[in-house]
Amino acid sequence: MPTEVAVGIFGGTFDPVHFGHLRLAEEAADTLGLAKVRWIPAGQPALRDTPRVGPRQRLDMVRLAIADNPRFELDTAEVDAEQKSFTVPTLERLRRADVYGSQQPLVLLVGADAFAGMAGWHRWRQLFELAHIAVAHRPGYAIEAAHLPAELADVFRQRACADPQLLTASPAGSIVTFAMTPLDISATRIRTLLSNHSSARYLAPDCVLEHIRTHHFYTEN
Ligand code: ATP
Repeated sequence: MPTEVAVGIFGGTFDPVHFGHLRLAEEAADTLGLAKVRWIPAGQPALRDTPRVGPRQRLDMVRLAIADNPRFELDTAEVDAEQKSFTVPTLERLRRADVYGSQQPLVLLVGADAFAGMAGWHRWRQLFELAHIAVAHRPGYAIEAAHLPAELADVFRQRACADPQLLTASPAGSIVTFAMTPLDISATRIRTLLSNHSSARYLAPDCVLEHIRTHHFYTEN
């Protein structure tokens, strides 16, 4: 039986990274008792349009945003791979003996909107063999089974776990939800503000916004 502390896995496009992401990871670490949160920017996200900013640039913004947080670490492998990123193969990579192996409890962190779309992910049912899933509340998105697609709702009912402490009792397989400070911030909104030459201050870290300004991201068509 695993006795280790669980590790959080946080994938995303991060186009750009913002305070919604940072609070999600920070509050997940506290609420779920995670030793670390491993941030994994997608190289080429599988299920969405090409990001506005390239993989290396998105990676650099995440690196800047998390640099001073000792609980956060950056995984560059999906960007380095220069191919489409899928969550199940990413988790399989993390399960290799030279990374976390098979017994370390891993907790995949997702927002409520991402969770609602999970049944559309490549080989999605295998996710539960590889990690627990922790779903953060996000303004505008419900997490109740009644609002999920039927096949995901069934899995949610079967695997829901009310006690985050139990995440360390097994390496994978449970779903927990957690309330975080509701922040109605999205990367889409930030991109729109910047393309209109409006301020995105207080929505993302100053160091990220400064980097965006220096490199003229999001202002050019
Ligand atoms: P976009 O607006 O471009 O779709 P986004 O703001 O949703 O981007 P992503 O990089 O797609 O950001 O999100 C990565 C993960 O963070 C997803 O699981 C998403 O649900 C979650 N997330 C993003 N913003 C928030 C937020 N404000 N509150 C809770 N979860 C969030």
